[in-house]
Amino acid sequence: MTLARVTARVPAKINLSLSVGPLRPDGFHELVTLYQAIALFDDVTVTLKPKDERSTVEVTGEYATSVPLDESNLAYRAAMRVLEAYEDDSAFAISIRKSIPVAAGLAGGSADAAGALLAMDTLLGGQLGKNELHLLAAELGSDVPFALIGNIALGRGRGEEITPALSRGEFHWVLGISNQGLSTPAVYKESDRLREGMIVSSPRISEKLMHALLSGEPEELGKNLSNDLAPAALSLRPGLRLVLDIAAEYAALGAIVSGSGPTIAILARDEEHSLDIAVALTASGVVNNVARALGPVAGARIIESK
Ligand code: ATP
Repeated sequence: MTLARVTARVPAKINLSLSVGPLRPDGFHELVTLYQAIALFDDVTVTLKPKDERSTVEVTGEYATSVPLDESNLAYRAAMRVLEAYEDDSAFAISIRKSIPVAAGLAGGSADAAGALLAMDTLLGGQLGKNELHLLAAELGSDVPFALIGNIALGRGRGEEITPALSRGEFHWVLGISNQGLSTPAVYKESDRLREGMIVSSPRISEKLMHALLSGEPEELGKNLSNDLAPAALSLRPGLRLVLDIAAEYAALGAIVSGSGPTIAILARDEEHSLDIAVALTASGVVNNVARALGPVAGARIIESK
């Protein structure tokens, strides 16, 4: 059967730890990170169109604004890469239902790219296989390979060298979301400025954090969250400290800037505790939006094909 339209559902990520090493000659930083995919999803629908038509992108949903609708959209670029791999010159329409906030440190753009890779490959017969999809993903962006596999994984290099990690249990997160995003390059630049003159050691992963995941104890996980980019994100957005203060006041197990921010991920004991924290955070007015999400969840998957 020839498919005409496929929808992939892809999760956001948070970084349970992000260890940033020195600046490399290629302008990237060597890093070691532990990703967790959480239950906050974008849906990416790809429809094939006749060759002589124009390819298009549309974005709907709460966070549709400030997403580019031209060839610079990561999902568009991903779809093109798959077509090139198949030597197919069809046109396409991409429709993204966006629930992942933009420029939030949650890798929403990367999620859309992973969704478009998977959906387009499925439309064209699903012949690329995991390895080739992973290679295309790594070329598109550091966080795209993780969005394909989801759950929990260690990321090395720029984050694109992925090793799945073992973990037990489910974690209850509350996300403090700001309307105004932070640019990832700007946060790295601020981090370099703050670390100027300091000796920056090679990035590493905490043994205690890995152990906490294996044991599935949220208390231990909460104590061992870490992010080397947090000082830079807080320097650019001092108001984020108020979110961390509220997390501490409500006895959260831990709270961390996600990736390059400005989203703050707060770890709750259980569902009820996550509701308490979410209500307090909403009432405080220190963030524009609050979401609750369980993690880990699986990576990109097909939810509809016609
Ligand atoms: P990361 O943590 O992966 O560095 P992020 O989560 O902070 O990224 P994204 O939501 O991925 O940020 O958006 C970063 C920028 O990418 C946006 O400002 C936007 O201009 C651009 N972009 C391109 N395509 C997309 C897309 N499909 N969805 C969101 N942003 C996109």
